[in-house]
Amino acid sequence: VALDELIAGLTVDVPDHPEPGVVFRDLTPVFADGPVFRRVVDALAAPQLADPRAAALGAADGGQGFDVVVGVEARGFLLAAAVALDAGVGVVPVRKAGKLPRERIAADYALEYGTATLELHADSVRPGQRVLVVDDVLATGGTLEAAVALVEQLGGVVTAVSVVVELAALGGRQRLAPHAVHALWTT
Ligand code: IMP
Repeated sequence: VALDELIAGLTVDVPDHPEPGVVFRDLTPVFADGPVFRRVVDALAAPQLADPRAAALGAADGGQGFDVVVGVEARGFLLAAAVALDAGVGVVPVRKAGKLPRERIAADYALEYGTATLELHADSVRPGQRVLVVDDVLATGGTLEAAVALVEQLGGVVTAVSVVVELAALGGRQRLAPHAVHALWTT
């Protein structure tokens, strides 16, 4: 069975969460299914298979094409750690404001109502390091745009953004251009 069909089958649509009119895609059953989680992690780590631009970047070392995985709080952590462990590289958290204890950089991004802030430890990505950025859902792209901006502010090279689900109607992929977005299920 194709992975996108498995993800679609396990994702639960929750109407009116977290507020009326919003349909929340709950991916926790995807993560809870061992064999599907295995395939999701493998696929997230292989953006070069889906994207020729990332393939060109990865070709230099003949390997996976990234040196570190950045995960976005909180569900991105579940994925990024597994992807990093598999690839034999480290994992770095992008966190909501006020959580990281040491010197950090911050990026604000717009929510439907108001703004939020993401932070990254200032020494967690080195200039020239190739970074795979991972999260569960790409919606408007504001969250991942802020995460990418933080990585780039430290001189990191974002080779791809990998997500489990892309909500295509919200235009996140366009917003993240020219970065390659690797989505396992686009709906
Ligand atoms: P964006 O900034 O609008 O792209 O929203 C993406 C962020 O919000 C990600 O960190 C997601 O975890 C979360 N998110 C947005 N919509 C959903 C959803 O339907 N299900 C699960 N998470 C979502």
